[in-house]
Amino acid sequence: PTVFDVQRVRADFPLLARTVHDKPLIYFDNANTSQKPLSVIEAVDDHYRLHNANVSRAVHQLGEEATAAYEGARDKLARFINATSRNELVLTSGTTQAANLVAYSYALPKLQPGDAIVTTVMEHHANIVPWQIIAQRSGATVKAAPIDQRGELIVEEFVKLLTPEVKLACVTHVSNVLGTVNPVRELARECRKRGIPLLVDGSQAVPHRPVDVQALGCDFYMLTGHKMLAPTGTGALWARKELLQAMPPFFGGGEMIREVSFDGTTFAEPPHRFEAGTPNIAGFAGLSAAIDYYDSIGFEAIHAWEQQLLAYATDRLREVPGLRLFGEAKEKEPVISFLIEGAQATDLATLLDLQGVAVRSGHHCAHPLMKFYGVPATLRASLAFYNTREEVDAFVTALLKVRTLLM
Ligand code: PMP
Repeated sequence: PTVFDVQRVRADFPLLARTVHDKPLIYFDNANTSQKPLSVIEAVDDHYRLHNANVSRAVHQLGEEATAAYEGARDKLARFINATSRNELVLTSGTTQAANLVAYSYALPKLQPGDAIVTTVMEHHANIVPWQIIAQRSGATVKAAPIDQRGELIVEEFVKLLTPEVKLACVTHVSNVLGTVNPVRELARECRKRGIPLLVDGSQAVPHRPVDVQALGCDFYMLTGHKMLAPTGTGALWARKELLQAMPPFFGGGEMIREVSFDGTTFAEPPHRFEAGTPNIAGFAGLSAAIDYYDSIGFEAIHAWEQQLLAYATDRLREVPGLRLFGEAKEKEPVISFLIEGAQATDLATLLDLQGVAVRSGHHCAHPLMKFYGVPATLRASLAFYNTREEVDAFVTALLKVRTLLM
């Protein structure tokens, strides 16, 4: 085992010390939302205690400090995903807003009847439904590339769907249900050859691995802050400069204009063109602190520890009688979906909660994936670098216990 001081890391996360139903909390719902280190909580608190004002509107000191906090998050994010310029980052409330921005500003104006958008069977609804809505409006269609039983994208089938009428391809970097890591570089190369922009949903990738959008070769990359140690209501859309330059505004309002007149309004340059209204300034102050926190530990250490935990948890779960695993891709992040024969997922999750274990049961906003496996729901244990082997052991013990209660 690597020398990763997980207890020291855990001390940075106040919530991990609490109990649930008089049991020590085992938080295995990290793919849903992560817990926050004290430095993030303090950054939000500091903002409201010391720096609170609106952005880009005031020349006074506090206004400048608030603007610096907000724009500072853009700088941090640009470096975090290796964008060529800070102006390629549009700050959003999360991945969902990022996807809808691409749908309405980039894709909808381009779509003609007969056009298509390609996505995959393993997507979160946030990377399906916006495409369906604009397809319906424009007479285009949405096509989904299939996966195999192990939960890996069938790349040849994805590539076969990249026909001339495709105006956008959309794929998740990491599946929120299966943990599968998709071969984004390869997919981006295939899209590029055909002149089709590739949008990548990085929601479940950025908490686990270093991301380099230039190396990936994609055209759009979306992320959400609350899954990467930051506050809810923060996120970003990264897009190549040329793409953003050509995109019309989606939300109209303050902060996104150059000049407003009833004879015609002109708009700010990207990224501000896409950031109407007052943003979640305190949240972005927290997001900067989250990136600093990742930097302080480093993804090399995070990745090594999480992969150990994933392998250990997967092995231990195989001991549970009647357990069926979903997602056995060669390259995975620490997300484990499963079912136990003869027990309902929700019943198991409810009983696990009484043991202090937080896991998610349900469809995980991925109906098409559930349909592919022919199940209505799964249980999902999703781990983070602050989880421990002892928690995995306690989780498996709890699972064996609640299983017998339901048999
Ligand atoms: N995509 C994926 C892969 C996700 O896991 C999630 C969150 N469950 C989203 C998109 C949506 O993120 P948000 O709700 O923060 O916009």
